Amino acid sequence: VATAGGVRSRTVTYLAIDIGGTKMAAGLVTDNGLIQARAMVPTSPADPWSCLCEVLDKLGPLPTDVRACGVGCGGPMEPGGETVSPLNIHPWRGFPLRSSIEALVKLPTFVDNDAKALALGEGWIGAAAGERNFMAMVVSTGVGGGIVLDGRLLDGASSNAGHVGHIVVVPNGRQCVCGSRGCLEAEASGTGIADRIGAPAATASIEERVRAGRLVGRAVANVAVLLDVPLTVVAGSVALGFGDVFFDAAQAELTECARIVYTAGAVIKRAGLGADGPLVGAAAVARANLGA
Ligand SMILES: [Zn+2]
Repeated sequence: VATAGGVRSRTVTYLAIDIGGTKMAAGLVTDNGLIQARAMVPTSPADPWSCLCEVLDKLGPLPTDVRACGVGCGGPMEPGGETVSPLNIHPWRGFPLRSSIEALVKLPTFVDNDAKALALGEGWIGAAAGERNFMAMVVSTGVGGGIVLDGRLLDGASSNAGHVGHIVVVPNGRQCVCGSRGCLEAEASGTGIADRIGAPAATASIEERVRAGRLVGRAVANVAVLLDVPLTVVAGSVALGFGDVFFDAAQAELTECARIVYTAGAVIKRAGLGADGPLVGAAAVARANLGA
């Protein structure tokens, strides 16, 4: 596009795909992190691949300036999402997600854990923009996380670093889907809370909301002490739905538990991208892999 000041480069876009147990979303995201188009379909428990094809059909033909495809998906997975086995998508066990999507969309395709994707998105244009050391968490049906340390997203040996939902916060607590007991996910996820109270998490009492906030704060304190991470941004329907009472309790527990000098001032904030987080995060996965 020619401008008065010279020639401005064209806006690069990313095809972003968010794969979840309840819905699949796809969108076009600019290199400024703006979502230009989006589509969504519910995830069929029996045939998730058809849902993925359907959401891309719904999004329509791709513009010619789309440079790459970024995908966020629930874990666990193999490095780069070559195969995925999301706990909440039962037909996919060792499913070859990255190559399947690449063959479908005919673009360079990059896959990462959805919570790690969110961390990249929050560090790009969200509540952690410009921060070099932070954790992003999702407290929703499950609990996930991604950690950026020294400006780099942590991958780990199997690319599952940051799985904060399986830090034990209640010794000998509730049975967790991972096989352990008392994990944050078993105690403070939407599913865990619903099991505890025998009703949907959205109906939880103030006491339950405070308890969930405290347990999240306890997990965050462990991460803050271990990795010297002063900022955690929290997204997800449970955290955001529980609101101030949850965030105040989380912050109080963090302050109480992380007492070593370098964690003074460690904070928990609401994530900044809201409902756009998953798609912006998926785009950020492509962007990061292209070296942007
Ligand atoms: Zn667990």
